[in-house]
Amino acid sequence: METSHPPSWLTPGRTAIWPPYARLDAEALPVVSASGVRLTLADGRELIDGIANWWSACHGHNHPAIREAVHAQLDRFPHVMFAGLAHEPAYRLAERLTNLVPGDFTRVFFTESGSVSVEVGMKMALQHAMITGRRYATRFLSFRGGYHGDTLATMPLCDPEEGMHAMYAGVFNPALLADLPEDAQGAAALDRLLADSAREIAAVVVEPLVQGAGGMKLHSPETLKTIRNLCDRHGVLLIFDEIFTGFGRTGAMFAMQQAGVEPDILCLSKALSGGTLPLAATLARRNVAEAFERDHPAAVLMHGPTYMANALACAAANASLDLFEQEPRLEQAAAIEQQLAAELEPCRNLSGVVDVRVKGAIGVVQLDRDAAFLRDRFPPLGVWIRPFRDIVYLTPPLVIGEADLARLTSAIVEVVTGWSRSLP
Ligand SMILES: *Cc1c(COP(=O)(O)O)cnc(C)c1O
Repeated sequence: METSHPPSWLTPGRTAIWPPYARLDAEALPVVSASGVRLTLADGRELIDGIANWWSACHGHNHPAIREAVHAQLDRFPHVMFAGLAHEPAYRLAERLTNLVPGDFTRVFFTESGSVSVEVGMKMALQHAMITGRRYATRFLSFRGGYHGDTLATMPLCDPEEGMHAMYAGVFNPALLADLPEDAQGAAALDRLLADSAREIAAVVVEPLVQGAGGMKLHSPETLKTIRNLCDRHGVLLIFDEIFTGFGRTGAMFAMQQAGVEPDILCLSKALSGGTLPLAATLARRNVAEAFERDHPAAVLMHGPTYMANALACAAANASLDLFEQEPRLEQAAAIEQQLAAELEPCRNLSGVVDVRVKGAIGVVQLDRDAAFLRDRFPPLGVWIRPFRDIVYLTPPLVIGEADLARLTSAIVEVVTGWSRSLP
């Protein structure tokens, strides 16, 4: 999509940039500012943001409180190495997260991306197995429809057939793959799989309640309880990947609160910094962390990225947590849920539409085919909506107002209805 006044950097840069999940010639819209729920393009057009920086900008763009906190930290220092040196933003954030997350989480390891936080959780589980005399437990079990990152160790946890990394099938030692245990039969199947293979499994990994990048698929709190019970029965650790679901997106602060179960290891990222700066956290529950207090050669977690616990990112995350304390984000998510359910409903009976579903501030219209061909139809309507796989979806900033959200839902209804009517 070309703008009427392309900025001078756009065309020369385009031949140098390698774009994500796209062919090299993929085009992109030039953004010159972002504020609240609006992105401003170089030609002056404004788009209402229905995606929120890949599901992360929960307070909207450029929130003054986060900007101020980052400025204040920038005046002190942007970063210091995190081995042997301590700083307030990270130490305060770690303590706050252990208090905020329900359950007995006692330690926080900071990294700079969600994928790496999952890898750190995997390494915690592997070293925990070594310390506790289960050196043979070197594999992971994950679920069909799941997505846990793009790095080499997280790709095998993603759905091997329908996931984004299907082309890598066979390249890496695959994770054990199971269906989510959504009924008694599924629970029995997972029970059998764990009975056969628990010995070699370091941890089970799951996205609680919503499988995001796998297509925004929902499952019940009961399913999570079943997984927790089976992990306990067979003595394997459980990792919750709340990178997408954390911080209010599903209507609770953390999705796991809706099921009343806790994992042994928890991964957070995306909205942790309010969608502003790269930051992720891997939290260990007391039972995991305490193993690392033993006298054992594996009791030192061998990880330490250069930019871990970046002070600007931690300052942004502390400001984001302040906003969750001061402003009614969960009530806003509940209001968004109601509005999404009412306003996306007209899509349900259109031909070509397979499902309409809503969970918290996530609204999904699922088509009977790949939906990416609809992408170009949204910016001309003044909205930033980017279908992927077979879904047209919204994950707006939690601060979005009723009128702006109505513009997003009506754009979806208009585009999907127009397409549906054109079907033979
Ligand atoms: C986005 C996401 C990741 C990966 O996070 P990155 O920061 O993109 O590496 C992992 N798991 C889930 C559930 C995600 O939504």
